[in-house]
Amino acid sequence: MILYNKEKEEAEAKRQLAVLDNAPTLSPDIIPFKESLASINVKALTPIGLDVFQVNVGKMCNQTCRHCHVNAGPDRPEIMTKETMQQCLDAIKKFNIPIVDLTGGAPELNPHFRWFVKACHEMGRRIIVRCNLTIILEDERFNDLPDFFAENGVEVVSSLPFYDASRTDKVRGKGVFETSIQALKLLNARGYGMPDSSLQLDLVYNPAGAFLPPSQAFLEMEFKEHLRNDHGIEFNKLFAITNLPVSRFLNHLVNTDNFVAYMEELVNAFNPFAAENVMCRNMISVGWDGYLFDCDFNQMLNMKLDDSSHNHVSNFDLDYLLQREIKVSQHCYGCTAGAGSSCGGETI
Ligand code: SF4
Ligand code: SF4
Repeated sequence: MILYNKEKEEAEAKRQLAVLDNAPTLSPDIIPFKESLASINVKALTPIGLDVFQVNVGKMCNQTCRHCHVNAGPDRPEIMTKETMQQCLDAIKKFNIPIVDLTGGAPELNPHFRWFVKACHEMGRRIIVRCNLTIILEDERFNDLPDFFAENGVEVVSSLPFYDASRTDKVRGKGVFETSIQALKLLNARGYGMPDSSLQLDLVYNPAGAFLPPSQAFLEMEFKEHLRNDHGIEFNKLFAITNLPVSRFLNHLVNTDNFVAYMEELVNAFNPFAAENVMCRNMISVGWDGYLFDCDFNQMLNMKLDDSSHNHVSNFDLDYLLQREIKVSQHCYGCTAGAGSSCGGETI
């Protein structure tokens, strides 16, 4: 059994944050993120509400994708306990938070996943599950996921780096495209993504390298045409997401000497409208151990909320959360570049 090494994880997050904070010293084009905000008269990012409760139920995953900002994989032992999940349910209920967004790792690998989803469904919440598709075919325990999702009104959001095998497998691993296509067919057969069905199936594209995504509308058209013609697959929307320089992708950028150029590209594409619409202004992200963060990326960088009496789901305080200042560093340029980027794709 692999044990969680808190010190090691925290040291790595600290090291990565130092790399990001240091970026402005590497190029005159990399203006500190806070200065870019100041240039559009934004002193600090602040919340406008709290509609989305995002929960990372664990870092274990059946895949090991190259761009993964969670650094997830089969050997990650971090899994949210049932007790912490109950604290999440208590907060969702008490503060009437309408949207629950479940992520991981592969969230389905948490042994309490189905119990949690059912409880959210009983509360009438909108539920989003970030399903990596291949988990459905991983083994027979997961084959009924399309039925389970449908019965609980889950919206399925699934990453598919491209509509062909070579580019998808390059990012996500050998054979992932073929298994993803089979899983999409099972979801379609259950009604997901089909015309005249209310079961929502959205796909996520993110670039295979150190470049910004093309237009979301254009990509969606291309994906729809190819997946329909080549595989008979239907889906609802495509979200184009920028790779944020965090975790495995940050290390990849540094190791391939692409960090400075990529940061410059993100900074040069800074879009004031996207900055006003960043997703952290309307969400909270809960880590596997119950700590609260402004977003999943800050979670990976261990940028906890400042006030230790209000930074855990067990002491969830909506008033405090709505008054906080959102923590930023240079990775935030990934959310403000071009048409913007969030868990729901472009933001403008
Ligand atoms: S990107 Fe998603 S599917 Fe891939 S390793 Fe990370 S959590 Fe797993
Ligand atoms: S990285 Fe997180 S904190 Fe920074 S702008 Fe994006 S969502 Fe907000």
